[in-house]
Amino acid sequence: MKHFDILVVGGGHAGVEAAAAAGRMGADVALITMRRSDIGVMSCNPAIGGLGKGHLVREIDALGGIMAEAGDRGAIQYRLLNRRKGPAVQGPRTQADRKQFQAATSTLLDATPGVTLIEGEVVDLSVGDGDARVVLADDSEIRGRAIVLTTGTFLNGVVHIGDVSYPAGRADSPASQRLASLIRDHDLSVGRLKTGTPPRLDGRTIRWDELEKQPGDESPTYLSFRTSNTHLRQVPCGITHTNSKTHDIIRANLDRSAMYGGHIESVGPRYCPSIEDKVVRFGDKDSHQIFLEPEGLDDPTVYPNGISTSLPEDVQLDYVRSIFGLEQVEVLRPGYAIEYDYVDPRALTRGLMVRNLPGLFLAGQINGTTGYEEAGAQGLMAGLNAVRHVRHEDHVVLSRSEAYIGVLIDDLVTKGVNEPYRMFTSRAEFRLNLRADNADQRLTDMGRSLGLIGDALAAGWDRKRKLLDAGREALRTNSVSAAEAARITGGKPGPARRSVWELLGQTSLEELAAKHVRMPPDTAPVIELLAAEALYEPYIERQLRDQQALQREEGLRIPADLNYDTMSGLTSELRSKLKAANPETLGQAGRIAGMTPAALSLILARLRRRQ
Ligand code: FAD
Repeated sequence: MKHFDILVVGGGHAGVEAAAAAGRMGADVALITMRRSDIGVMSCNPAIGGLGKGHLVREIDALGGIMAEAGDRGAIQYRLLNRRKGPAVQGPRTQADRKQFQAATSTLLDATPGVTLIEGEVVDLSVGDGDARVVLADDSEIRGRAIVLTTGTFLNGVVHIGDVSYPAGRADSPASQRLASLIRDHDLSVGRLKTGTPPRLDGRTIRWDELEKQPGDESPTYLSFRTSNTHLRQVPCGITHTNSKTHDIIRANLDRSAMYGGHIESVGPRYCPSIEDKVVRFGDKDSHQIFLEPEGLDDPTVYPNGISTSLPEDVQLDYVRSIFGLEQVEVLRPGYAIEYDYVDPRALTRGLMVRNLPGLFLAGQINGTTGYEEAGAQGLMAGLNAVRHVRHEDHVVLSRSEAYIGVLIDDLVTKGVNEPYRMFTSRAEFRLNLRADNADQRLTDMGRSLGLIGDALAAGWDRKRKLLDAGREALRTNSVSAAEAARITGGKPGPARRSVWELLGQTSLEELAAKHVRMPPDTAPVIELLAAEALYEPYIERQLRDQQALQREEGLRIPADLNYDTMSGLTSELRSKLKAANPETLGQAGRIAGMTPAALSLILARLRRRQ
């Protein structure tokens, strides 16, 4: 029997990154998944990246991972989200050709040394004393030294369409039931969550000519730092809206929806509500936007983003046909909701290892998250730490100030989840520094020293770093007179000259650079990055001070009459959680699930004003 170093269970986004990371580090890895065709499957929307998620993808890429490169190879539309806002909260996103993304993920995984793909359902596992073992449904056994479990929505998965429910891991895939009961037996705290997906439409029956179009960006922002060209033809999405007739149909059939008919009790993602939820919760709105996203260049399937549902099939057809442009649409596959088991991630160390089962690592949706990017990010860290574990090395923990990955894992293991956890930029207190554009600057050297990135992958980064250093040096060492600085800032002249770097946030880089600095050769491609860095530098320093203040003020008392409704920066979700919990100290407020450091800073500022 062959012995591996690392056994990765599940070939979804977490499993792929876990296996690839361990393989890149030189480990001998078995990736065991139900079907070979699981690799790179997008269970729901055909898109990679976005706000917060785009940051995670860039970080995965900066650590040598697969998702960004596969995303670029499968991209049929690029959009940089939040383009009009500052660079810190801009998120690269691609619309994916599902099949091409899958093929690219498989190709990149196959090219990773040391990874053996094994088809089969894992029904039993054990770890202990540097020895790990999984048993497949055919009773065969595979041995290794540590396990990374990444079973997604499959543990005790139950699909719901109206009043029809059946066990499944996702549409067309069996649930993982034997493994689920084993995990429940293992003294781990297991809960239930749910998520949903919309019906898929036949694009040949959509009246595209009548619909508004959303094209991609003219100049694409690639997901991977290593991508230099667009691979596939680019296509627009369509835009349409629900209307009062759609809402009437949904309202009239609410009791037939799995959720409102009482078949589902677990919690779904609040920020990604089903269309039933939208109609009920936002009763005053008579229209919701829908993006019609093509699922591939040679595939007529269209993903209607914004109308996930657990209504019965006949109602789904009725309501989609009430929507402008979809009057004659055919539904190729019905939407559905799925409930599944997740493990309370507070059972994990910051290295993603189950605290009382050394050698067992968990990553992805099993930890209560939702999303390909959140799964991939955890997978990479779990794969890395599983290898370090079997080599008797300390686990690697990224801090909240280093990476969104650090924020994600810290949130999971300290606060747990009570709804599927999705990344948002607002979760990161250091978001001005954690930009998608500087993920390589933050992480690639570390990735190389950990063995996650070989010299060939890092060569491009080395070139870029030299340009960044040269450009930074030029901008910092060149200065302008006090009078010129005052003209640029519109203020009064100060006593001394000011460096061009200091002034970068206040005027256009082109003007400054052209007049006052001779930039070193070839630095043009990195100038925008340097401008973002210079722009944020003073704010980042202030942020650091805010953070230190929060730590000092943990015990600060919150008066019972503090009015959260008048704090304009708080989300309605946090406002209602704060009102319900009525925390007595700032520290208690910080431990409310979903609380963000930015929100805590707002509360702290208000408390200080009252003192
Ligand atoms: P998965 O991608 O689910 O992969 C798990 C893998 O493990 C599968 O390949 C499976 O075959 C394998 N596996 C399971 N059990 C075993 C076993 N016992 N033995 C061997 N192999 C096993 N995300 C969003 O960001 N937005 C959304 O709107 C959204 N909606 C969703 C709707 C639905 C219906 C579903 C199913 C998922 C949705 N997701 C959404 C979630 C997204 O698909 C997941 O977050 C992501 O795929 C999780 O990745 P993962 O690697 O943890 O698990």
